[in-house]
Amino acid sequence: MSDCIFCRIVKGEIPANKIYEDDLVFAFHDIRPLTPVHFLVIPKAHIPSMAELSEEHEAIMGRVMTVAGRLAREQGATDGFRTIINTGRVGRQEVYHLHVHVLGGPEILPGML
Ligand code: 5GP
Repeated sequence: MSDCIFCRIVKGEIPANKIYEDDLVFAFHDIRPLTPVHFLVIPKAHIPSMAELSEEHEAIMGRVMTVAGRLAREQGATDGFRTIINTGRVGRQEVYHLHVHVLGGPEILPGML
């Protein structure tokens, strides 16, 4: 989608600190990191949110999660990490292009709720 900020990052129209790219997924550092390791893994295809996922996306989402785990270790989150997918208004989703947050660092993260 031409006006989607993450689609534009995938296309190179908006700069981002890229970590990894393959045929299905793209990973880059979050512009406002909340923890020492904080990056996003996204499908290259424009899927607005997790609520829009269907069977046709299983291979893409499998790749997203596999890459997220591998990159977490490579980025230094060797002692664990947290993955977050915010969905919709109630989930406080800000950017409507499905993305997995990967958060980690040397310290144990605070509790969630
Ligand atoms: P969510 O939609 O799950 O609330 O979070 C969107 C995330 O995208 C936020 O953590 C925000 O900092 C990040 N973000 C928003 N715009 C940009 C951008 O232009 N570049 C990068 N690297 N991250 C962004």
